[in-house]
Amino acid sequence: VGTVEPRSMLQVVQSVKCAVDPDEVFQQSTIQALLEGCFDGTTTFGEVARHGDFGLGTFHSLQGEMIALDGGFYQARDGGVVNEVSPDQTTPFAVVKFFHPTLSKELKGDLNLSTVTDAVDALLEDKTDCYAVKIHGDFDKVEGRAIQPVTKPYPPLAQATQSEFSRQNVSGTMVGFRFPTDVQGLNVPGYHLHFISDDRTFGGHVFAISASCVTIEIDETAILHLALPSGIANPENLSEEQASALHKVEFQKRVAD
Ligand SMILES: [Zn+2]
Repeated sequence: VGTVEPRSMLQVVQSVKCAVDPDEVFQQSTIQALLEGCFDGTTTFGEVARHGDFGLGTFHSLQGEMIALDGGFYQARDGGVVNEVSPDQTTPFAVVKFFHPTLSKELKGDLNLSTVTDAVDALLEDKTDCYAVKIHGDFDKVEGRAIQPVTKPYPPLAQATQSEFSRQNVSGTMVGFRFPTDVQGLNVPGYHLHFISDDRTFGGHVFAISASCVTIEIDETAILHLALPSGIANPENLSEEQASALHKVEFQKRVAD
């Protein structure tokens, strides 16, 4: 166990054998490793669940989007279809926390993803910390996607196929994190949100929403616990090419490509 010199105020604790701290964000592997095609599962969801009841991630060979909420772990696949995750399924990348909100706010208006994330930003005192963000509401529309499985030899993440879908009039929760800019290479700077419907039948990675009322809950921590599987290095800052690939993967719709 060691403390990696942080690139921000964030304390990045790195270890292979993982003690459990309920106040930290726990992360398996790095976004850089995922960008480069490290898609083999390196830990089980049974182990991930020891470190958090709330979060997101993906599966061995990119078999969809993971959503963890209230201790339940879900897998969203083609078309946004959801099934429960079994503890022996494995993940190459997951980020979880035990969710204990310290801030909450109801938001009303003509809401879309940026008005909601701007409202969350306005609630935050220290933007160098990590925030677990939970947003529940009756959504007029949710647009999402699920990454499609790949076979070996694995392509880079940017070349994996996405299934895109949308659903109208759906009640559910956006589950995710806001990371500071300096986390680049370790995780996604800014917001990364997945969705799961209240009935747990629909979900995926969110890229657009509309709603007229949502409830925001926020849980802050300055500790990011990074579990690095063997062969995966603590990343340098991303190259310009990787940063642009990440932006494309996480924040842009694929339809226009
Ligand atoms: Zn995602």
